[in-house]
Amino acid sequence: MSRLSSPHYVIIGSGVAGNHAAELLRDNSPDSRITIITNNQLLFYNRYLLPRIFLGSEDWRDFLAWPASHYNERKIVMRRATWVTSIDPAQRLIMLGHNESIHYDKLLIASGARGYFPEELADYRALIHGFGSYEQAIATKRALPDGGTVVMLGGDMIGLDLARSLIAAGYRVRLVSGEMTFWPHQIADEQRGQFCDAVKAMGIEVIRGDQSGGIRAIEVGASGLPARRVLFHDGSDLYGDVVMSFMGLVPAIEFMISSGLDIERGVLVSTTLQSSDPNIYAAGDVCQIWSPEEQRYRFYYGHHNVRAMGIVAAGNMMGASEPFVSTWNESLRLDQQGYIDSPFWECD
Ligand SMILES: Cc1cc2nc3c(=O)[nH]c(=O)nc-3n(C[C@H](O)[C@H](O)[C@H](O)COP(=O)(O)OP(=O)(O)OC[C@H]3O[C@@H](n4cnc5c(N)ncnc54)[C@H](O)[C@@H]3O)c2cc1C
Repeated sequence: MSRLSSPHYVIIGSGVAGNHAAELLRDNSPDSRITIITNNQLLFYNRYLLPRIFLGSEDWRDFLAWPASHYNERKIVMRRATWVTSIDPAQRLIMLGHNESIHYDKLLIASGARGYFPEELADYRALIHGFGSYEQAIATKRALPDGGTVVMLGGDMIGLDLARSLIAAGYRVRLVSGEMTFWPHQIADEQRGQFCDAVKAMGIEVIRGDQSGGIRAIEVGASGLPARRVLFHDGSDLYGDVVMSFMGLVPAIEFMISSGLDIERGVLVSTTLQSSDPNIYAAGDVCQIWSPEEQRYRFYYGHHNVRAMGIVAAGNMMGASEPFVSTWNESLRLDQQGYIDSPFWECD
């Protein structure tokens, strides 16, 4: 398999998919070399738990899935704060930001996705607070006074998950709703009103973005007023202490652009999670999987699916050919109190 007797499995990404893949590889291939490369500073933590920061849990150690010793004991090399800049499938090489290259026998791309940021808001990026990482969530919490107001743009299921924690912690949430409000769920037009009412029942103030003509600008609030002002095309405005944007995710594929791998929005993979290169697999939010039923490549979300993808991909990298079967229940529901309940929020 390689110049060395034991194979070298390299995983790009230290999220749910990458870490669960590494665990399975180690369990079944005790002599192999396993390297995880991530641009994160922190070891693997569960991003689904980040809303807890606003409920008072700020210590980064509480978010780690495993301590650092876990990786030593399992002989998994974790390369943190390391950027992959490109990959060369012909040479089986990964190029890192500091001019180092790493050879692999089998590669798993588990580079996930980041929040989508629409072009019309690009000029105001510096005025919008983030939530994509532990560090960003902490910075946002620090910018928010006790009982302060968050203006949430879009409000996908990640944003709504945060919103319910914000409300529980005594903050005020003003949601500028739009097409992405219930992403990744597909909501029929006739159901939208019912789900918006359920959002209001959660204590969230809903402003319909389409009725105000969309966002014209975001400004720093004048002295004595909240720190941010959102202006709409119809002349109305909205104040908040922080503005956050939640409009779905975009796969992290930049480093693969010139690799020759088949890519649409994400890396295209077969049902066995193999890419167009036989030595490269992909799992998690970065990949679009072929659906024989729907005859198209599509994304599958949710903790159970992402973890299962990592495990299936790892098994197939070792020679199996198991298909990934989704457990994703795509429907958005209302619970007994009439509040929104989403399988996207389920995590174990
Ligand atoms: C704040 C937040 C909250 C979320 N909450 C939920 C939720 O409640 N429920 C849910 O189902 N989903 C949620 N999601 C979506 C969720 O992130 C994913 O479903 C899941 O975590 C994806 O796991 P993954 O392993 O595919 O990728 P990720 O967890 O995104 O991990 C990707 C890894 O790749 C690394 N990486 C990317 N590019 C490079 C590069 N060029 N070089 C080196 N490293 C790189 C990243 O640093 C990261 O370590 C949330 C996402 C965010 C951002």
